[in-house]
This record gives sequence, C-alpha cells and structure tokens, in this order.
Amino acid sequence: MGHLVSSTGMLEVARANGYGVTAFNVHTLEMLQAVVDAAEEAQAPLILQTTVGTVKHLGPEYIVAAAQVAAKQASIPIALHLDHCTDYDLLVQCIRAGYTSVMIDASMHPFEENVRRTAEVVRVAKAAGVNVEAELGKVGGVEDDIIVSEEDARLADPQECVEFVERTGVPTFAPAIGTAHGIYKGEPNIAFHKLEQIYNLVQVPLVLHGGSGIPADQVRRCVALGMGKMNVATELRIAFSDAIKHIFEQNPNENDPRKYMVPAKEAVKKLALEKMQLTGCIGRAKDAFI
Ligand SMILES: [Zn+2]
Repeated sequence: MGHLVSSTGMLEVARANGYGVTAFNVHTLEMLQAVVDAAEEAQAPLILQTTVGTVKHLGPEYIVAAAQVAAKQASIPIALHLDHCTDYDLLVQCIRAGYTSVMIDASMHPFEENVRRTAEVVRVAKAAGVNVEAELGKVGGVEDDIIVSEEDARLADPQECVEFVERTGVPTFAPAIGTAHGIYKGEPNIAFHKLEQIYNLVQVPLVLHGGSGIPADQVRRCVALGMGKMNVATELRIAFSDAIKHIFEQNPNENDPRKYMVPAKEAVKKLALEKMQLTGCIGRAKDAFI
C-alpha cells in the first residue's frame, strides 16, 4: 500500500458492510511482524495499536518506523493507532511522529469535560488527517495504569452517546457496554439491548474494547450491531509470552532470542488469524476505503 492510512474510512466501510477490523496491541517488533504476517496472509485490513505504556517503553518514532516499513512492504491497508491516551501532549507527539489514529480517553471525567477534551483532539487530528476514537461510560479492568474496578465500570447511556458524537464530531466511538480489559472471570455481561439502541442512534463505527475472551457468538452479535473495530490485547500478550515460557521450560539454558522469538511469533500469528476470522475481516483488504 505504500504508507500508513487513517483508520476512519476503513472502519466506516467495515460498519457499512457488517464486519469488524481487528486491532492488535503490539509491544515488540516481533509481535508487530506477526500480526502483519497474519493480516497479509488473510488479506485483511489491519490496525496496529500501542498503549501509552508501550509508547513510553519503545518511543513513538521507533514504533512508527516499524509500522511504516510494514505498510510499505504489505499489500494490505495498515493503520497505526494510539490506544487509551489521557495525555494531550503525548497524543500530539504521536500524531507528529506519524500515528494515523489516536484515542483520547477522557471517560473518567464528567460528560461536559469529556466532550470538551474530545472535541479539542478531533479538531487537531482532523487537520492532520488522523482518525480519533473516544469513549463514553467506563470500560472496567486494567489497561496499563488506567484501573477501573467492577463497581466503577459504567455503561454508556444511548441518548448521551448521540449528544457526545454530535457535539465532538468524533469519527469512531467506543461506548462502554459491559466488556472489560484483561481476561474475564466468567462470561462478559454485555448489554446488547443498550448496544442495539446505540447502533440505531449513532451512525459512526463503534469500537469493542476488551476483546480478549469474549465468546465467539457474542463477538459476532457485537459486530452485527455496528462494532466495526475489535481490540485484542491481553490474549495476544499471553500467546506471545506462553510460547516463550514453553521454550524455557524445555531448555532453561536457551540464550538465542531468535530461537524463542520464532515460536512466539507463530503463536501470535495463529491467534491473530483466529480473531480476524471471528470479526469477518478476512479477504476485505480489497474493499475501497474512502
Ligand atoms: Zn480499551
């Protein structure tokens, strides 16, 4: 494709056609390469994403450089997204470095403050041709240093969603509907009746956070109700780390990173393909992303 693309068009087309683009949180070069390999093989559009913690760990320039090489070599459209950012300065720094999508997470603030902060980011990002995602309600669980307890997790109100999207102009929208970050203890308790109301009231593509471990039928239902993007983070980290642990269990003296990174990449690629199958984006790279 040549260069990283904004995910706005990608997600609008996904919602309009009833499938979801999978967005994978990557933390190392090998994880990035593995999901790109998977998407290339599946001919699926791809969103690479990093948390604020990973941006601080690797530096935005290194991440952008690696993603740009992937975009240059791949035949599929690839976007690079900053996940759950509360820090305006860091967000602008990532846009300047070359991210093509950012999430401003001001969901911990009162409604008016969330609107104000989100609208400000939308204004700046639109001028740079960069997609924006924002959240309403509170997704439970742990995402880097954002910790939301079960009691504090709050579902998005459908009427507030309409007002929020209209007033902020945000092109992609993450309503909290009962999913959580991390691995679920039981089954997630997704408020499908609320999601359906939001789907009918809000026209922009919706985003499913906490995509690790949601049963397949529930993912499909979410996608059918406008969730044009599904985030997968925890499960991918576990697949990567477990493959490495397995190598060290068999050979505690292994000291060649290439030896344990190969199975780790394979595990990530396999999981990525399964998730793409689930959201229905396989073979969709050829769609026209306006
Ligand atoms: Zn999230």
